Amino acid sequence: MNDKSTMKPNTSDNAISDQELFEILDRKQKNLEAIFDATPVCMILLDTHKTVARANCAVKKMTGKDYSEIIGRNVCEVIGCADVQDGEYGRGLNCSLCPINRAVSDAIDTQKPVHGVELQHNFRFKYSEVALWISINIIPTLIDNELYVVFSINDITDRKQAEEKFKEMMEIKSQFISTVSHELRTPLAAMKEGVSIVLDGFAGEINEDQRKFLNIAIRNVERLGMLINDVLDFQRLESGRINLDIQENDINQLVYEIHETMSLASNKKNVDLIMETDGGIPRSDFDGHKINQVITNLLSNAIKFTPDNGRVFIRTRTDDQNIIIEVEDTGMGIPKEDLPRIFERFYRVKRPGKEIKGTGLGLAIVNKIILMHHGKVEIESEVDHGTKFRVFLPMSDNAVIAKSSTAVDNVLEDKLIKKADQ
Ligand code: ADP
Repeated sequence: MNDKSTMKPNTSDNAISDQELFEILDRKQKNLEAIFDATPVCMILLDTHKTVARANCAVKKMTGKDYSEIIGRNVCEVIGCADVQDGEYGRGLNCSLCPINRAVSDAIDTQKPVHGVELQHNFRFKYSEVALWISINIIPTLIDNELYVVFSINDITDRKQAEEKFKEMMEIKSQFISTVSHELRTPLAAMKEGVSIVLDGFAGEINEDQRKFLNIAIRNVERLGMLINDVLDFQRLESGRINLDIQENDINQLVYEIHETMSLASNKKNVDLIMETDGGIPRSDFDGHKINQVITNLLSNAIKFTPDNGRVFIRTRTDDQNIIIEVEDTGMGIPKEDLPRIFERFYRVKRPGKEIKGTGLGLAIVNKIILMHHGKVEIESEVDHGTKFRVFLPMSDNAVIAKSSTAVDNVLEDKLIKKADQ
């Protein structure tokens, strides 16, 4: 301790004797050794010839060797690298290609540390040959002005196997969901067809009560169909098995068509669906079918969550790099605390007393599709006032050039008009 206020004078009464000093150092040394040996990660101190100067107990445990077979030996031989043992040490067939050998050499040559490199490698121990996944760290260090490296090896095989298993399970799960969903769709279509035939009176006259119950049945068949479609869509997007079909498209034409279709639903609910498009947006490359799905999802939510006599707006415009699609409503809004989770799959805002049907997958699908286009979705909302979704869809390079040349043309035109006016 160097703090003068607490330092006591070195009088003969409290001076530390050589014996005490030796004991303190010895205790410290033993503590460090205990920690070194208790570390479950293999720790090896190497000199610049890759010879092992020290190793901890984990090395003995991993290799099944005792210290006489470890200290003073080449590290690749010690850890049981199968490449070394295929050939004669140092001239092993694959030593020059071996990633462990190369990483150690690099750390020694450059004196730069190697952190957390994960690799799978073949090892040959006393009674077995195994392919282990390991994570290695190599830290150059100076001891008494001599260069050494501390080489640590962590066996991460269990974690890697668990990750593999998890990936496999996810693949099975996604296959299961798609198979089941496909299988559900066929009988569902038959049910809908059957009920529709009865409703249309082809199977004989039906009374009002029967009509009422059949309508309930058909509405629920449709709901189930929607749910299955959403699950299938989301599953396909999540699994990355879906590719975008990027073509040159006209966003305003798309919005116009969607507006026409969705007007039926908005009229039914007495909600005004107002379209405000910027006519100067150039054609741009995107997946028209998927962007149609995005706008349709946002608009059907806006109509669904806006009470009678409300208004819903669909707008388009651009900034320097993006087409901006805005869907705004004057509906019930989303509480602040729900906003951070609104794009999560199956997340639905709890609205006690006014539960509105849905799957909680629509916004997750919207977000996924826009991310696949390298864009983003923003949201602003206020309870009882309304919600605004803003989609940024990056424009293709050609569209950006076309847009900037349109802007230049406009400025030029403005200038000419002003000049003519003078
Ligand atoms: P769904 O509409 O099928 O429930 P979504 O993923 O499309 O699922 O939406 C998730 C939740 O976000 C909805 O349950 C709803 O509570 C809320 N939400 C989405 N759009 C709006 C909106 N325009 N106004 C109010 N709430 C909305």
